[in-house]
Amino acid sequence: MSRTHDYWKTKSKALTIEGRAFIDGAFVQSASGKTFACINPATGQVIAQIADCDINDVNRAVQIARERFNSGVWSKKSPTERKNVLLNLAQQIEDHLEELALLESLDMGKPVAVSHSYEMPDVASFARWIAEATDKLYDEVAPTGAGDLALIRREALGVVAAVVPWNFPLDMAIWKCLPALAMGNSVILKPAEQSPLTALKLAGLMKNAGVPDGVFNVVTGFGETVGAPLGLHMDVDCLAFTGSTEVGKYFLAYSAQSNMKQVWLECGGKSPNIVFADTENLDQAAELSARVFYNQGEVCSSPTRLLVEESIYESFIQKVIQCAEAYEPRDPLDPSSLMGALVEDTHTARVMRLVEIGKQEAKLVYGGEQVQIGASKNFLRPTIFTNVNNSMQIAREEIFGPVLCVIPFKTEAEAVEIANDSIYGLMASVFTSNLSRAHRVSEALKAGTVVVNSVDMISPLVPFGGVKQSGIGRDNSLHAFDKYSALKTTWIKY
Ligand code: NAD
Repeated sequence: MSRTHDYWKTKSKALTIEGRAFIDGAFVQSASGKTFACINPATGQVIAQIADCDINDVNRAVQIARERFNSGVWSKKSPTERKNVLLNLAQQIEDHLEELALLESLDMGKPVAVSHSYEMPDVASFARWIAEATDKLYDEVAPTGAGDLALIRREALGVVAAVVPWNFPLDMAIWKCLPALAMGNSVILKPAEQSPLTALKLAGLMKNAGVPDGVFNVVTGFGETVGAPLGLHMDVDCLAFTGSTEVGKYFLAYSAQSNMKQVWLECGGKSPNIVFADTENLDQAAELSARVFYNQGEVCSSPTRLLVEESIYESFIQKVIQCAEAYEPRDPLDPSSLMGALVEDTHTARVMRLVEIGKQEAKLVYGGEQVQIGASKNFLRPTIFTNVNNSMQIAREEIFGPVLCVIPFKTEAEAVEIANDSIYGLMASVFTSNLSRAHRVSEALKAGTVVVNSVDMISPLVPFGGVKQSGIGRDNSLHAFDKYSALKTTWIKY
C-alpha cells in the first residue's frame, strides 16, 4: 500500500485520541479534573486534552500498584506466563504500527514515514526480545562446597516508576517498562508532558495483551507535579529515568530525601565522532556523520561533535554538507520527510539561541535558519558549524537540535583528548581502516558505547547507557533486568 501525504493527513483526521490517565486498568480523569492541551508542533493545533495529574493521582497509582504487587496477580505468575503476556503485547504493537507512528508524529513532530517504517517496528522487536528473555534468565548457586547450598536469586523490587522524555516516547517507555514487568514488578509510567499519546495507547495495548489491572499505570502531567511526587514517594522502590542530566540529578536528590529508592539514569550526551584520514570509505562516513540530523537532532546519543583529521577537514565537510541536504525540514506527514518539527516552541527558541551563539563563536557553513511550514515555525534547517573549538559553548552544551559542530584535529592523541573532554560519556564513534587504531581509540574513549565505522548502534542485544554525567545503569540486553530486581541469597545448611 502506498502511504502518501494525503493518506497520512486523512488518517490523522480520523484518529480517536485518548488523553486520560490510566490507573487500575481504566482511563480516568485527573483527580482535580484539570487538563492541559496537547499541541502538534508541526501545525500549532491542539490535538487533545490531557489529564493534568498531580500528587493525588500519583498516590492512588502507587497504592494500587503496590496492592497488585502484593496480591501476586502478576508478581507470582511464572516467568513463562509473564513472557506469554508480554509476547501478546509485542504482537499488539505490531498490529497497531500505523496508529502508533501517527500518534508519535502528531505529538512531537517526527516524520511519520520514518516512525512507521523503522521506529515502531523496532519498538515491537525490542518488546519481543525482552518478552522472550523473561523465562531464559537463570539464577545462581554459589560454590560453597558440601553441606551448604547458597542460592542467589533475583527478586522483583515491587513498584517501579519510569519517567521518560519526548524524543522517542514509545521506545523509552518500552525500554524501561518491559524489563520491569518481566521481572514481576508493578509499573507506573510518566510520559513527558510534550508526548503522552503513545504511552496512553500503550496502556490500552497492555490491557488487551492481558497485563492485569493496576500492574501497569500511566500518570500524565508535568515534571514538578507528577515526576517529583514519584521521585519522592516513600512506596516507590525504583525510579528509572531518561531525560536531561539536570533533571536526572533531581532524582538522585529525591531519592536521598525519601526512601533511598534505586535510581537509574539515562541522561544527556555530546557524542564525539572521530574521522581519521585513513578511513577507506569517506563517502559513507560522511553520510553516517550526517545522521546527526536524524529525529531533528533530538537524540541523546547523536554524534554531535564531528572531529575530522586536518588533512581531510575541508573535503570531508563538503561531503557532509551534501548529505545534509536530504534533511531539509518538511511536513512530518509528507512521506519524503527525513526531518520534521522540533518538539515545541520553547525548545525551538532554546535551540535557536544556541545557533545564534554558534554564529558568534564559529563559522556557519550550512543552515542556521528557522523555516516556516504552514502555521508552524518549529522547523530548523540542518545546521553545520566549522572551525569549532571544543571549549566553545556549542561544543560543550547539549543542543538537542539539528546542529553539528565540526572540530579539526592533528593527531590521534589530540582526537582522543578532545573527545573525552566533556561532562558526558554516552556514545562515541571512530572511523578508521587501521585495526590497531580502532581498538586503541575505542579503549581510550570514555563512553558507554563506542562504534567503529558507523554511528549510534542501538540494539536489544547490547547494553545502552552512559558514563560520567550521561547516567547510571544500562537499558537493553540481559543487563537491563538487573535494574528491576534485587539479588537475594538463601543459605541452606544441611
Ligand atoms: P527532561 O529532563 O526535561 O524531562 C524528562 C522527564 O522528566 C519528563 O517526563 C519531565 O516531565 C520530567 N521532569 C522534568 N522536570 C522534572 C522535575 N523537576 N522533577 C521530576 N521530573 C521532571 O528531558 P526532555 O527535555 O524531555 O528530553 C531531552 C533530554 O533527554 C536530553 O537531555 C536527552 O539527552 C535526554 N535523553 C537521554 C536518553 C538516554 O538514553 N541517555 C535518551 C533520550 C533522551
